[in-house]
Amino acid sequence: RIPLIGLTGGIGSGKTAVSDLLAKLGAGIVDTDLIAHQITAPNGIAISAIQKQFGTEYLDINGALDRSKMRALVFAKVEARKALEAITHPLIRQETIKQAELLVAKGIPYLVFVVPLLIESGSWEGLIDRLVVVDCPEEIQITRVMQRSNLPRAEVERILQAQTSRRDRLARADIVIENQGSLATLNVEVNQLHQKILQIQKDQLS
Ligand code: ATP
Repeated sequence: RIPLIGLTGGIGSGKTAVSDLLAKLGAGIVDTDLIAHQITAPNGIAISAIQKQFGTEYLDINGALDRSKMRALVFAKVEARKALEAITHPLIRQETIKQAELLVAKGIPYLVFVVPLLIESGSWEGLIDRLVVVDCPEEIQITRVMQRSNLPRAEVERILQAQTSRRDRLARADIVIENQGSLATLNVEVNQLHQKILQIQKDQLS
């Protein structure tokens, strides 16, 4: 079978930048963060269960999940977070498998699962052949996210605190992609990563 790669990293580390480059090289990408957004978009497969559990006030005018309102609730109440996850996690998993199967049927050389919370939700670990961690100093993460999402520093720091620590994440990595330089440097690193992953399959075959 083709290699299955996990790709993770903290907020703003550059997961999307890396997966976009890998996609250009022909990799099959399943982005679980994107899936989480898709299932909670208008008419998404999680919407009716969310409405039933939390009420219409947690949907916005278009019928999508009201993300900022829900974020406030789940930050304040652990039971709410658990209830939301009980709805979304199985649907994310189902959709992940569906997208992965479609990509495999297309004949891609390997699959990359982009998972922001790979380590927090440990159940993925048994499934993948290698874990790639995108890494950069926290100060760079903070600056990038403040710029991209127009968030105050304190908010970004709070999100960072809630995620797995940099040290724990790096301790689990099979391969580390350093993303503290330019996008051109990142491109070179990602090309090497692509070759390395193709080699995994050659090694499996021989
Ligand atoms: P999140 O977890 O928040 O989705 P992410 O890990 O997917 O983040 P990206 O979205 O790839 O991170 O990168 C965060 C921001 O930083 C983006 O605006 C991206 O364009 C920018 N960025 C990423 N890597 C670099 C780099 N090497 N040089 C300059 N800008 C970068």
